[in-house]
Amino acid sequence: MSLARFALGLGLSLLLSGCTASARFARSVLPPGVAGPEPHISREHSMVIDEERIRLTRDYLQIHNPALLAELPDANLPESISFEPRLLVVHFTAIPTLTETLETFDKLHIGPDRELIRRNGLLNVGIQFVVDRDGTIHALYPETIIARHVIGLNHVAIGIENVGNGDLRRRRAGAPLTEAQLEANVALVRHLVDRHPSIEYIIGHSEYRQLEHRAHPAHELFHEELPAYRTEKSDPGRRFMRRLRRRLRRSAGGPVG
Ligand SMILES: [Zn+2]
Repeated sequence: MSLARFALGLGLSLLLSGCTASARFARSVLPPGVAGPEPHISREHSMVIDEERIRLTRDYLQIHNPALLAELPDANLPESISFEPRLLVVHFTAIPTLTETLETFDKLHIGPDRELIRRNGLLNVGIQFVVDRDGTIHALYPETIIARHVIGLNHVAIGIENVGNGDLRRRRAGAPLTEAQLEANVALVRHLVDRHPSIEYIIGHSEYRQLEHRAHPAHELFHEELPAYRTEKSDPGRRFMRRLRRRLRRSAGGPVG
């Protein structure tokens, strides 16, 4: 092959792979007109954000996003760890029951079993919403208080955890995500977009590293101070995200595709 043909081929393949990535990343953008009414949300397990949790959250930000911390009010108040939501991150818990999930999130400090996370801040993992297996939505953290659930995006992301440990219809998982959870996620996403028009994007946790790619429309939102602090995630599953996005497009009156 001549050098010119090789260069042309290389250029074309780079262009095509760039296009493919852009098309893949475009799925993260929420369709216009998706906002919807408020579903029933249980506040039975809402958490009190006490001084110790605020202090631990600020310690976490000092390690992972010190520039942002410098902009927040320097006080031991919830306002000093609040944020404007820009995207939604969907998870599954990898824990099969609501009771065990709530026990896990209730602790202030990350457990000794999660070594990589613990080495990078003592704040426990946390989440704004948990969807039980029957579709019941529980509010845990206040919507605009920073919780630790996704590297690089906690300062802009509202998290939705689904109780379960596998994708929709993945029977081998033991507790695969349910149709009731899918319905509840659709309703909750629509409601959150209605309450916070600043929310433009939705991703599955497994997709969070795509935002490090310059071609991603939400690239500017990603910030993690430590370049080696990354995890590999598979939740909530490709089928769940595909179905959720399709349902959101349909509720917004757009092409279902
Ligand atoms: Zn997750």
